[in-house]
Amino acid sequence: MPSESARPPPPKAAAVVSVHALSGGHFSLPEYQFVHPVSRDARRTVPSLAFLIQHSNQITGKQTRIVFDLGLRRDVKRYAPPIQKHVETRQPMTTDPDVTKSLANGGLAANDIDYVIYSHVHWDHIGEPRDFPTSTFIVGHGALALLDGTSSSLRGGHSFFESDLLPEGRTVELSEPSPHALKRNDSRTAPGEINFNGSWQAYGGLPQVLDLFNDGSLLIVDAPGHLPGHINLLARLSDDHQVYMAGDACHDRRLLTGEKTIGEWNDVHGHVCCIHADRKQAEQTIERIRVLEKDGVEIIFAHDVEWENNPANKARFFGACSE
Ligand SMILES: [Zn+2]
Repeated sequence: MPSESARPPPPKAAAVVSVHALSGGHFSLPEYQFVHPVSRDARRTVPSLAFLIQHSNQITGKQTRIVFDLGLRRDVKRYAPPIQKHVETRQPMTTDPDVTKSLANGGLAANDIDYVIYSHVHWDHIGEPRDFPTSTFIVGHGALALLDGTSSSLRGGHSFFESDLLPEGRTVELSEPSPHALKRNDSRTAPGEINFNGSWQAYGGLPQVLDLFNDGSLLIVDAPGHLPGHINLLARLSDDHQVYMAGDACHDRRLLTGEKTIGEWNDVHGHVCCIHADRKQAEQTIERIRVLEKDGVEIIFAHDVEWENNPANKARFFGACSE
């Protein structure tokens, strides 16, 4: 009989996170600005989804709560005038419940949220940061230059950014996800401890990811094309269930299936506009998401009306009664 100590240790369960959807309002889009070909008059009302991600350190038991995106601002009059003008073209719109109320539905207050990660800083994702007075805000590389107005100009009525959006002293901009960037020494971070300063690395077909807790449970994914600093999340919920939160990498499931291509339109000056700042990069990002979906990863994008309307997903909203 082998002694107790000679037995191999039980296999260690892979670290996981929980992910819940948060309703962050609804607004309406003219479809031609997103997909092609489509009728000029076609419009659809879509959600602005946010997500609550909860991580528990396997060794210390420490809980970390993250909200990914803050959806629409409850009081649209608190947007800057150019965005208020743009909002008029996005009716009908509802902002109740917003993300704060959606958190409250599940029994959490804004003060319970350690980090707010923005996929990007477009108006329909930024919500109301002042509702989160104790959270640290995380943005992708290049987002701060957009907010400061020091980035190159982008076309379209939605391209207005608030220089005072993020709280001073509670904001972290991620390092540049470049294959040539200096790899940082993140060996000091124990598995399960959050670290926004780790090294970007390849993961499967994704060239640049950050392993946020150094345990593989939650990856920040560089998702270039839509807007400078655009990032996505890849979360492991169990051994056989991964969820990819795609932000605005994709606005319509028909782009994933190849049924439609990315839309373009002309502004009043005759300039060609596209919802993505860099269409070519956006197409490459969509291709990577397509591969993930084929590999069995669940894809949810921010304006994913089909995902929201699927009855099977109702219980996956935070505070849904089945919990
Ligand atoms: Zn966007």
